[in-house]
Amino acid sequence: MRSAARNAPCPCGSGRRFKGCCEPILGGEAAPSPEALMRSRYTAYATGAVRHLLRTTHPDGPHFRSDERTWAEELRNYCGLIDFVGLEVHEAAEAGEVGTVRFTAHFVHGGQGGAIEEHSRFRRVEGRWLYLDGEGGAPAP
Ligand SMILES: [Zn+2]
Repeated sequence: MRSAARNAPCPCGSGRRFKGCCEPILGGEAAPSPEALMRSRYTAYATGAVRHLLRTTHPDGPHFRSDERTWAEELRNYCGLIDFVGLEVHEAAEAGEVGTVRFTAHFVHGGQGGAIEEHSRFRRVEGRWLYLDGEGGAPAP
């Protein structure tokens, strides 16, 4: 897990500074697109911003859990074990209230590098993009 400085390059790899990219979204602003939400969730995993992961998970998706305390604790443990070191967004699309993003997230776990490739689906609910589910991803809490 790493911390992000406001003026440093954003962990999501957009090339923008953290304060002008994922920081406001982690702070509660609505993500303008499924890709922006996906990037902010990656940054949340990279920096341990667990609350953001909870509130941007769609209640109908398989990752949503009603026991927020246990869920947050497991996410915190996960973020502490896995160091996310890079993100590539391959394609992103949105149509109406539905969005998809295909990406690869690179990580280091126990000194070993790895990658998660996932095709994620998003739904917009009351103006906010939420993560619904994904195919091909490694299991994350
Ligand atoms: Zn970012």
